[in-house]
Amino acid sequence: MRLRHIKGAEETIASNRFVIQEPEAVKGHWQDYFKELRGDDLPHPLHIEVGMGKGRFLMDMAEAHPDINYIGIEMYSSVLLRGLQKMEERDLNNLRFLRIDATYIEDSFEKGEVDRIYLNFSDPWPKDRHAKRRLPGRVFLKRFAGILVPGGNIEFKTDNRELFDFALEEVEPAGYEMIEYTFDLHNNEKMSAGNIMTEYEEKFSSIGNPICKYIIRLPEQV
Ligand code: SAM
Repeated sequence: MRLRHIKGAEETIASNRFVIQEPEAVKGHWQDYFKELRGDDLPHPLHIEVGMGKGRFLMDMAEAHPDINYIGIEMYSSVLLRGLQKMEERDLNNLRFLRIDATYIEDSFEKGEVDRIYLNFSDPWPKDRHAKRRLPGRVFLKRFAGILVPGGNIEFKTDNRELFDFALEEVEPAGYEMIEYTFDLHNNEKMSAGNIMTEYEEKFSSIGNPICKYIIRLPEQV
């Protein structure tokens, strides 16, 4: 994603009501955090998107699935700021944001606290020496295993076939099981049921790029 420095982005984010400023303090207590926010006393599954960009996918998901709590993670203030502007119009009480680098995601969530992780159009980092930065690579998948519930899922979408082929190879070494995958999501009736498009997905599918997707699972017994 092309980044422009937006003046005042950090300051706006630091005082924004949709951004959790000290996620380390909420670690292990996300259920309580959302119970207070929603004003109910029920447990709800927690789904997160890592690298959410402007966050429209999560806003649409949160609106479509009010019974699920969502957290969007984005490391760049200038990108997150765009999402916050949209969130003002939608004001969802089952969605909040963290401005963190997912490298340190285990500082924000307890082991077993997250039910599902979405990775959408993750940066490909094509150079070999940058492989460790790829979110669907084994280094990150192992970090994600440190916060997922046993049996929890990761759903990954991309139009980048090279990145997807790499990601398929990483699943087993990182200790996950494949549930299903496709190289052409929009022509796969089963896997595209209920699909909500991300901003990148709309952009790349509109120029004819097929969208790849997998769903993987952390084993019940790790
Ligand atoms: N998911 C969105 C979509 O599909 O429209 C945005 C995709 S964009 C290509 C990838 C986003 O992931 C960028 O905004 C980038 O800043 C973010 N990102 C990449 N690595 C990250 C990390 N380690 N932690 C948090 N965000 C990250």
